[in-house]
Amino acid sequence: MELTPNENLYKEVLQTMSEYVIIQEKSGKMIALNENAETVLGVKSEFFTDSSFQQLEYIKEDGTPLPYSQLPGMITLEKGIPFYNYVVGVIDPESSTKWLSINSKPLNMRKDGEQAALITLSDITERKKMEQTIIHAKEEAEKANLAKSDFLSKMSHELRTPLNGILGFAQLLEIDDSLNDEQRDFVQEILGGGRHLLSLINDILDLSRIDTGQLQVSIKKVDLQTIITECINIVQPLAKKKRIHIHNQLDQSQTMSVLADPIRLKQILLNLLDNAIKYNQEDGKVMIYSYLKRNDAVIHIADTGIGLSVEEYQKVFVPFYRIKGTQEEGTGIGLSLVKQLVQLMGGKISVTSQKGIGSDFYFSLPLPDDLKAAMHWEEGVIGLPIKSGKSEQYCLLYIEDNQSNLNLVKNILKSQSSYTLLTARSGIEGLDLARTNKVDLILLDLNLPDIHGFEVFKILKTNENTRDIAVIAVSANAMPKDIQQTLGLGFDNYITKPVNVKEFLTTIYETLTSTINQNIPEHKILSTGPNGEEAVSAKTLQLSLKDLKKLREKNYTAAIAMHYTGNNWARAQIEGLKTTFNKMGIRVVAVTDAEFNWEKQVADIQKILAKKPDIIVSLPIDPLSTAGAFQTAAQSGVKLVFMDNTPYGLEAGEDYVSVVSADNYGNGAYAADIMAEKIGFKGKIGVIYHDADFFVTKQRLTAFEKTIRESYPDIRIIARSGFTSPNDGKELADAMISQHLDLKGIFVVWDLVAEGAMASARALGKHDLVITTIDLGTNAAVEIAKDGLIKGSGSQMPYHQGVAEAILAGYALLGKPAPAYVAVPALKVTKENLLEAWKLVYNKDPSELNRYI
Ligand code: ADP
Repeated sequence: MELTPNENLYKEVLQTMSEYVIIQEKSGKMIALNENAETVLGVKSEFFTDSSFQQLEYIKEDGTPLPYSQLPGMITLEKGIPFYNYVVGVIDPESSTKWLSINSKPLNMRKDGEQAALITLSDITERKKMEQTIIHAKEEAEKANLAKSDFLSKMSHELRTPLNGILGFAQLLEIDDSLNDEQRDFVQEILGGGRHLLSLINDILDLSRIDTGQLQVSIKKVDLQTIITECINIVQPLAKKKRIHIHNQLDQSQTMSVLADPIRLKQILLNLLDNAIKYNQEDGKVMIYSYLKRNDAVIHIADTGIGLSVEEYQKVFVPFYRIKGTQEEGTGIGLSLVKQLVQLMGGKISVTSQKGIGSDFYFSLPLPDDLKAAMHWEEGVIGLPIKSGKSEQYCLLYIEDNQSNLNLVKNILKSQSSYTLLTARSGIEGLDLARTNKVDLILLDLNLPDIHGFEVFKILKTNENTRDIAVIAVSANAMPKDIQQTLGLGFDNYITKPVNVKEFLTTIYETLTSTINQNIPEHKILSTGPNGEEAVSAKTLQLSLKDLKKLREKNYTAAIAMHYTGNNWARAQIEGLKTTFNKMGIRVVAVTDAEFNWEKQVADIQKILAKKPDIIVSLPIDPLSTAGAFQTAAQSGVKLVFMDNTPYGLEAGEDYVSVVSADNYGNGAYAADIMAEKIGFKGKIGVIYHDADFFVTKQRLTAFEKTIRESYPDIRIIARSGFTSPNDGKELADAMISQHLDLKGIFVVWDLVAEGAMASARALGKHDLVITTIDLGTNAAVEIAKDGLIKGSGSQMPYHQGVAEAILAGYALLGKPAPAYVAVPALKVTKENLLEAWKLVYNKDPSELNRYI
């Protein structure tokens, strides 16, 4: 091929490049545009031909072989696809692999129309080597970091074990009345020093967990004011010692919410406040103030202390850095931990300061946006009730090889007359004692000299005589993932060393007494039972370990006769029942679905009775028509527990155990409150009620109408229609909306029917209609989440209703008195607490709901 003068100039330019540039034609012919083959490939250009390229061996970046036909140039020639910086290795048997970066581009400028590719090759072997060195160094560093974190967690374990003795015995001395004042001071010194050491170990552990990405924060909407007040109360005694005044300048009347992990936020504030006091002067001041800046809240902790120089601003956040000449005790970990925690929660921290005048540490935290705020459940879930004065006797067994820990627990339990303690120094000895004594609870150290605690646990659970003993792990390992793993194996509880004496006793007591209970919010129940009975909250029901043991010995059976099983409500209720029966050692022999047909339900009960169950839990479809069948069951001695309704003629305490329902009245009242709020407290509304003798839906309606009448005088109910089938919703709402064009809202006593009303409003173009209802089916929940027509609901908690029914059946079998009417508290659901509410209603992770939103 002849080159024009212009092409000659290009060739000159090409000569100066460090790449090897060639044109390759489809026929296989290659034209080198410069002579850099030697620099790039180590061979003179003139010796290079298509076949010499073919003879080489190529590999991809990951080391796998690359056939010649798959080289970028070849593909460009074949398919016209260009490549940029494609990395190919050329294996050189005599030395190491040569790495090339290849560009190839289809060449359309050929006069003769022959297909060709312009290819440039550059040698990147050095760069590759460097990259590999860096990757290797990074891997080494990660390994070292893991080793460090492993070392720290082991160290922390080793330090915690002796601290258990120090803090434990000091706590026992603290409550000993015979000590004089001086001795009391000594004990406080020991406790102070020990606790300081413990918090240090925890800080170091936290830092190492952040380093290895193991520290997880659980972010939720938290009220800043509450947390700040709590922290000020904690540091107040320290401030008083130096006569330092803490000014909380946050507007007390306003709530300011931020997105944070409440425990970690407290840790941050306590650290900053602690420093603001520590590095302050006598009679100094500490100010706390906060404001909003774009999407963040900014919180300042300012002091009138010794201050920092500009050069020290960043350094104070480096682990273990302490300013030279600092008189106060410390380690230099606090601020580095604070910085990492703030960053983990999506914020930033900074400081401004002036030597001798004071410092101002400030950090930002994200504000909850609407959707995130919508996912929060405001009401606290109240912990287990702790009863006192119980005179039951329990036998405890502590399996532990460390003598000091054994002594400590012996001494802690000495004052507890209801416990007798057996001790074992090894796993084998412990298993022996558990088999030969009537033990109620085992405290199990996990690091035993002979067999690991997990193995001991497994053996306990496989042995008939020991499998019902409650087991609490006692370990110096405080890593959350280990605690979770242990509880996941079925341990009843976990106590970390060093033990806090009060918590230790509470945990033992709770494990022994509240084996099955209900983790639900506590409210006053407004409903009364089907026969006007006063409600007892489901929260008060519980079965103790002893109860469970008795029940499990008997191999009882139960059957569940549902009216219908095709919806979430019924499924959740069945699940609550089955899970609880399983814990009680009660086998479920039948679950029937009457498909809303009372005749089928009567037949179902007859079939169930043939199986001779000890318990039947059922929702009677019709109080009259099903009465005979339930009467027969009662007479044959079956313990009957009802959901929501009771058959006519049967008496509580005589023929049946109890009836369990939601607080239907409370839920109806909630639906009224939400309606009022959403329509602006005035206007005309309609109600769609259940046209049947069903006390549950009747109570909802009564509560709704009464609440509107008595609490919202500017709202008028101007239309009422009754449904007989769940499919009536649309038709009834169509008529209601077309007749009353100024209707602002409709209350429907059941969410399934509310869906019909929703479809009607949409079809008629009434997009501002407010619908409130009862319960939280998936469709209603999604509509609430989207701020659609359904604005809220008063919901039942079917899973927990199931748990309550199972417990009540247990009461009857144990011969314990059971309340005639038990209700699960009402639950107000709006967009604001939707996800938490979903969790309470179905006992399932709300992520299931997230899928639909
Ligand atoms: P420690 O207080 O245990 O030394 P920190 O990480 O909390 O560890 O703080 C690091 C250093 O920063 C401290 O040693 C101190 O010199 C300096 N410092 C921290 N807070 C203040 C403050 N409010 N005023 C002046 N100096 C401070």
